[in-house]
Amino acid sequence: MNTEQQLILLAHIQFTARHFIALRCPLDKLIELVRYSIGEAAPAPDQVRNFLLKESTQKTLELGWEVAMWQSADRSKSWRLISLATTSDPEVAKRLLARRPPSSDCCAYCWQDERGVLDALKPELDIYGKPVESLYLHRPCTRPWKLMRDLVARAGTTKRESLL
Ligand SMILES: [Zn+2]
Repeated sequence: MNTEQQLILLAHIQFTARHFIALRCPLDKLIELVRYSIGEAAPAPDQVRNFLLKESTQKTLELGWEVAMWQSADRSKSWRLISLATTSDPEVAKRLLARRPPSSDCCAYCWQDERGVLDALKPELDIYGKPVESLYLHRPCTRPWKLMRDLVARAGTTKRESLL
């Protein structure tokens, strides 16, 4: 697969992630969704599969495309596709941070339920490195979560400064 084809795939994986926000499905379904997004020019399913399975693809997506994609350690070995794109609006961020998922088995950022999946989630750490009670996150989800926290904290500071 040449660079151009790889970029097209990355862009459509990102598009799919942003569309679904947080998706859990078998690998075949994920391949189908990405190929559907590309349309007629889509590479063959096997080519897409090979690309998705590459560790470097998953790293590139996380570092450059605000997308987390991995195979879960759950019984069905389902795949996760999570958009890590965050809001730039402090008020929206504040609302998102205040939401709580239905249980502590769910990631506080993407709300995927990880019941029974060992070590899928880590507790959120406060600025002193202490776990925050009943707040658990996937490793890739900690980054957008922290970005939103910083955004809200910064907005709070600017407001206070403008009052002085
Ligand atoms: Zn998550």
